[in-house]
Amino acid sequence: MNRDLPATDETYMGLALAQARAAMVQGEVPVGAVVVCDGQVVAVGHNCPVGGHDPSAHAEMQALRAAAQALGNYRLPECELYVTLEPCVMCAGAIMHARIKRVVFGASDPKTGACGSVVDLFAEPRLNHHADVVGGVMRDECVGILQTFFSERRAAARARRLAQSSPAAEVAGDTSVPPSETSN
Ligand SMILES: [Zn+2]
Repeated sequence: MNRDLPATDETYMGLALAQARAAMVQGEVPVGAVVVCDGQVVAVGHNCPVGGHDPSAHAEMQALRAAAQALGNYRLPECELYVTLEPCVMCAGAIMHARIKRVVFGASDPKTGACGSVVDLFAEPRLNHHADVVGGVMRDECVGILQTFFSERRAAARARRLAQSSPAAEVAGDTSVPPSETSN
């Protein structure tokens, strides 16, 4: 943990990480977000597109929707958004529509990041809203929870493949695997 960072950013990122853990418990990619207004947490959200059958249910979207409901306003110009993973294009767009004044993220996302990793929408002068963006707050913790999730998921997939292809499944009395699937 970088002690040079302002304590408040780490405090709120810690809360976003707690949301990421809530996502992981539900089998979702662990990303969490909180919206802060005048030092008060007004909303939280975690990634849940799989369980929610909702491709837009990223942590930022959940937190932005909850914050707008809580404050009774679709614009959130006094608010800061903390999120454990760099926002994607969709979430960056929603952040702009909400007029969020500051975005703080933890881990960079080289595949879909829209704050500099793939594109930097917040540096695009033709778009009319420019939030301050800070990346890398509690990066190690934010990367770590994602690595844990994906390594556990790979291990589980390996174990499933092994159980299906190994004769040990029959020895163990598992008759649910059809012979055609045990041969490869
Ligand atoms: Zn997103």
